Amino acid sequence: LAALAQAKKLVVGHDTNFMPFEFKDPATGDYVGFDIDMWKLIADRLGLEYQLQPMDFNGLIPALQSGNIDAAIAGMTIKSEREKVVDFAYPYYDAGLMILVRADEGDIKSLEDLEGKVVATKLGTTSEDFVKKNAKAKDISLFPNIDGAYMELATGGADAVLFDSPAVMYYAQTAGKEKARVVGPLYMGQSYGIAFPAGSDLREQVTIEILKLMEDGSYAELYKKWFGSDP
Ligand code: GLN
Repeated sequence: LAALAQAKKLVVGHDTNFMPFEFKDPATGDYVGFDIDMWKLIADRLGLEYQLQPMDFNGLIPALQSGNIDAAIAGMTIKSEREKVVDFAYPYYDAGLMILVRADEGDIKSLEDLEGKVVATKLGTTSEDFVKKNAKAKDISLFPNIDGAYMELATGGADAVLFDSPAVMYYAQTAGKEKARVVGPLYMGQSYGIAFPAGSDLREQVTIEILKLMEDGSYAELYKKWFGSDP
């Protein structure tokens, strides 16, 4: 398999900004994060050569379908509509959705409180689906990059952001520390998977490597590096 795949360097699509899974290190300009590290471990073990291809999250599934990329690693939630058009390897991270509000917000404490409010989130994600189906929001502002939603919240254009739990928790502890905080429970539990074009030979090989990483402690080490705790 390695020999076959190496006939062509793999193109691995990833999101431009999904902290702490993938983001540009301002110091070096390189993409870093949990996804980037995990993929490197897998690829090294399988002897796969690859190049990273950052793109808007919304473009990843179409790029897999057209064969422009050979894999996508982007904290991508495994969900039925996607499983119909791409193949996911074994789930590698469990998450959910959470609500982020301005630090001085007093009224919004849970999903019910989003009724009549403006909610910002990211285009083409499970959060877009969830807000449309479950929040009685007055308006939903969609951004290709979650930073746009955080900005909209900070400047008062939106009352809340709803997005993936690891991303909003990371933001609330770092860049958004003074500006925002997380409220309420975890909604819509979901798992992330590495996606491949339908029928790709790589899916099974990568699944086996993910399971090995989980069995030999490498996954836990990586988890601790990026999330600060044991998985
Ligand atoms: N997990 C979410 C989804 O798959 C968001 C992923 C992302 O923004 N990179 O829809």
